[in-house]
Amino acid sequence: MRAVLSVGSNMDDRVELLRTVFRDFAGEIVSQSAVYSTPPWGVEDQDEFLNAVLVVDVNDTPLQLLARGQELENQAQRARLRRWGPRTLDVDIVDIEGFSSESAELTVPHPYAHQRAFVLIPWLEAHPAATLHGKELGALIADLDPAEVAGVRRLGMMEEL
Ligand code: ATP
Ligand code: MG
Ligand code: MG
Repeated sequence: MRAVLSVGSNMDDRVELLRTVFRDFAGEIVSQSAVYSTPPWGVEDQDEFLNAVLVVDVNDTPLQLLARGQELENQAQRARLRRWGPRTLDVDIVDIEGFSSESAELTVPHPYAHQRAFVLIPWLEAHPAATLHGKELGALIADLDPAEVAGVRRLGMMEEL
């Protein structure tokens, strides 16, 4: 099963926390974006995030993949203080090829992905031909607030950080 993951961190050692996800999926990564510095989204009075997107090929069901991401969040000692608030690590499933779901436990495609520059810009880098809801990622990015798009800054590949 091919899936697109969005990873984010805005607490503690953000690069090393994101690296735990890159390591866990090491043998399954098809392509990866650089790591980006991004302004907080939804709740703005918190530190900047680091974000990246991974395209992975896994022998998991969608719920098993969700559980893998949650296990990595638990290992990062993630606490849920408030919605969209500060977190050590967030692992979200953005999309899964040939699969969709609308349950609260797992909504795929991710319900906010099309509105988030911090997802779309790294995803476009990892997979330039990708589409979401039938639209090219570049077209979705063009519909976003230019200030939000400008806030997403490429830092470099994980291997170089
Ligand atoms: P957002 O989903 O808006 O990015 P968040 O990542 O901060 O917010 P979490 O606290 O990480 O939200 O997750 C809350 C719940 O979302 C989880 O318990 C999980 O079951 C559910 N969820 C639903 N769809 C997805 C998805 N596509 N990827 C990850 N979690 C999902
Ligand atoms: Mg999230
Ligand atoms: Mg999440």
